Formats: sequence, C-alpha cells, structure tokens
Amino acid sequence: MIRNISWLVILGVCSLGLTVGGFTASGQTTNATADGIAATRVVVLGTGNPSADPERWGPAVAVVVNGRAYLIDCGPGVVRRAAAAEKNGIAALKAKELNIVFITHLHSDHTLGYPDLIFSPWVLGRKEPVEAYGPHGLKNMTAHIEKAWTEDVRVRRRGLEQANATGYKVNVHEIEPGVVYHDENVTVTAFPVKHGIWKEAYGYIFQTRDRKIVLSGDTAPTDEVVKACDGCDVLLHEVFNPHGDELKDPHWKEYFATFHTSPAELGEIARRAHPKLLVLYHQVLEKLPESDLLEQMKKEYSGNWVSAKDLGVY
Ligand SMILES: [Zn+2]
Ligand SMILES: [Zn+2]
Repeated sequence: MIRNISWLVILGVCSLGLTVGGFTASGQTTNATADGIAATRVVVLGTGNPSADPERWGPAVAVVVNGRAYLIDCGPGVVRRAAAAEKNGIAALKAKELNIVFITHLHSDHTLGYPDLIFSPWVLGRKEPVEAYGPHGLKNMTAHIEKAWTEDVRVRRRGLEQANATGYKVNVHEIEPGVVYHDENVTVTAFPVKHGIWKEAYGYIFQTRDRKIVLSGDTAPTDEVVKACDGCDVLLHEVFNPHGDELKDPHWKEYFATFHTSPAELGEIARRAHPKLLVLYHQVLEKLPESDLLEQMKKEYSGNWVSAKDLGVY
C-alpha cells in the first residue's frame, strides 16, 4: 500500500515536469539561501508557439524570487496559467500580484496575452500599474491596446464595479541592451538575439542572490547566448524540429535557419555556454511527436537538460 502511494507521488511530480534546486513540483520551497530568503524558481507557464496545441499554452515564463514573480513574455492564457501555478502552491503567481513583464520581442504569440495581463489582474483588484519592459514598438502596441478597451475601462470605473483608477495603466520602458531593471531581488540584463528580420529581439539574464537564469527568447544560434550564460544555473533555450515536412520547402527552410535554433545548433551552443541545466522551451514540434525532437537532442548534447512542460518548475 505504502509503495503504491509513493508511486503516485512520483507520477504526480513527473506530470508537472522535473524539479531541481530544492523545490517540489507543487512549488513548495524545500530549501533557502543562507540568509533565509527562499531560493529562486523558474516556472514555465506556457511552452507553446503559434500552433493551437491545447497542451502548450502561449509562451510565458516566470522567475519567482522572494515572493515576487517577474514575467517574461505573455502568450495567450498567461493570467490563467499563472493562476494554475498559484494553485500548485506558488503564491507569487496570484493574478492580482502580476505587475511586471519583460517582453523578448513583439511577435503575436509572445504578446497576445498582454491585454490579459493589463486588464484581468486589474479587474481582480490590482492597484499597481504594469511595468512593461521590451523592444521599441511596445509603447505603440500598449497605446493601441489602451485605446481598444477604452469603453471597458469607462464602464468598470464609472459603473457599479467601481474599479480603481490605476491598476489598468502601464508604464512602458523601451529598452536597449544592458541592465534594464534592478531591485532588491533581481538584476535583469537584456542582450540582443538574432530572430530573422526583427529589428529588435532580446534574451534576458536574471541574476538573483542564488541563481543566474538566462532565457534565449526566439533566436537563431547566436554567441550572445553563450556569452550571457557562461556557466549559468539555468539556460532556457528555444528549439525547433528540422524533420518537419515544412522544412522540405526552401522558403520555410530559410525561415527556420534565420529565425530559430535546431537541436544540432543548440547542442553546440550549450557545449560552449555550459549551463548547469538546459531547459528546452518554445519547442516547435512541426506536427511530430515530442520524442522525435528529444531523440535528436539526446544525440547532440550529453549535458544536463530537460524539455519543459507547461507549469514545470525548474
Ligand atoms: Zn515565438
Ligand atoms: Zn518570434
């Protein structure tokens, strides 16, 4: 009987993804830094891309440190995914608490949840404006979103809902490479990546007291990721499956070569960047089973790596 229960617990953990760094899959802290501050967690809210895959929600990641969540990108469903992570025990991901985001680039799959992040937590009582960091063009996008929901804001504020006057506002910070944000928990540094014809696409470094976490954003292979990681604790990197049928078409082949990273290219990047843990995310599966991609990755990289699942904690 006891043995059965243990297996159930193990299965439960596996279903939520690998956990490292002293955290259980439910998000409960099992260790802390020397000064008693809870250790940093990476919560992958959505591993998806533009495909309407019900198992993979829009790309969004949270770095959770000392009770605060710092979001990276806001793909479709970001607030509900955060609520699911809160249910798993990560209180910092409560909808009302979400108020800071770092956008990698303005592709729609990474920003369709932006209006959700602006308005849903406000309706649920958030009073602080959103602090949004990202490439040039983010101000323009934000202004259009604010305009599109003008009537909603008017009704919620003037009607019986009596919504507050501040929580739907956004302070937009259009960034350059370098340190873009610093507080008592984290220093965030942006670095440029290569994403086809996008003029600006960024990866981010999150340095906390106990961990250095690097996210590639969407990118073709670039030395910038190698430099940024340089032995980091966690490298989250995008990857696509080059076995997909689309790749037989020369224009799609060129698209993937200039916008994204194959397993062979990622293996090379990881060998040079030597992260303690490589996390594959934004996996473009090209309608093939995930195992096809993972088999290629196994051949290309013998270091410590895992393929992220939605709501996985790393
Ligand atoms: Zn993308
Ligand atoms: Zn993209």
